[in-house]
Amino acid sequence: SAEFDEHKSYHLALAGKLHRALEKGDLTLYYQPKISMASGRIVGFEALARWFHPTDGMIRPDIFISVAESTGMIRAVSSWVLTTVLRQLAEWRDQGLRLPIAINLSPRNLQDTGLMESLERFSTHWQLERGMLEVEVTENAIAENAEQASASLRRLRALGVPVLIDDFGTGYSSLSTLKTLPFSAVKIDKSFVIDMLEDRDAAAIVRSTVKLAHDMELTVIAEGVETDAVWAELKDMGCDAGQGFYMGKPMPENEVAQWLATSGWGLSPGARPS
Ligand code: C2E
Ligand code: MG
Ligand code: MG
Repeated sequence: SAEFDEHKSYHLALAGKLHRALEKGDLTLYYQPKISMASGRIVGFEALARWFHPTDGMIRPDIFISVAESTGMIRAVSSWVLTTVLRQLAEWRDQGLRLPIAINLSPRNLQDTGLMESLERFSTHWQLERGMLEVEVTENAIAENAEQASASLRRLRALGVPVLIDDFGTGYSSLSTLKTLPFSAVKIDKSFVIDMLEDRDAAAIVRSTVKLAHDMELTVIAEGVETDAVWAELKDMGCDAGQGFYMGKPMPENEVAQWLATSGWGLSPGARPS
């Protein structure tokens, strides 16, 4: 159909532009805080990619990440994300700030032994403290090529990199895969969290995911916490941490210090080692 062709040529055009954007430095990372529900303290950040195109404006990651995935450029994108975050962690450490940052990896990245090798090499280079870099992958990342994916997950674990399951509830993982793989946390997809006060099914999914994760000794993080009412309900359900516009929107790095100073969410003593 004409619509399909239009969609396809838009994607093709984007693919070419993305290549240049990477070289020109038009990609940047925003950081969104995660907050512990029990203590109200900041437990870390998630790095989210943004593309500022000189004429098209901001292109959302949902669009350009899928372009990167379908053209093989995801390797270059993820490698850029990785080095940017490792450099950021080193900079924060030098400024006396010790908070983990999570990066998102695509399913393909877990099939890429080259990327895993750079991760090992870079973490040595930047003298990364264990636990400071985290990785988020969706359930589908495991479904694609389970053997290779679990080998990568074990490599990450050996490096002391916690792996979180992103968008939980929207993919195709079976409970048995979750049990056999070394995950440290589950992130409940925002589609359930946003609706949980109006939609009983969504609330039931959130509640049972919290229970399931805890029974499996995993931490649970809710994404898409937009109001204090949802925050209170999640806390009541025993959810460990939350991420969402209510606590903090994704922000450029140069706004992080100001946000830390004024947001009202606390820092754990370990986050500012003297
Ligand atoms: P994600 O990893 O599940 O990230 C959470 C998304 O939810 C982010 O969208 C974030 O801005 C948004 N969000 C956070 N709090 C709220 C809230 O309270 N309400 C609502 N409605 N949304 C909220 P964003 O930044 O547009 O990213 C979309 C997706 O793109 C990410 O979902 C992730 O899958 C992918 N992505 C982003 N950056 C990267 C990257 O560097 N590499 C890869 N492979 N994927 C990335
Ligand atoms: Mg994520
Ligand atoms: Mg998510």
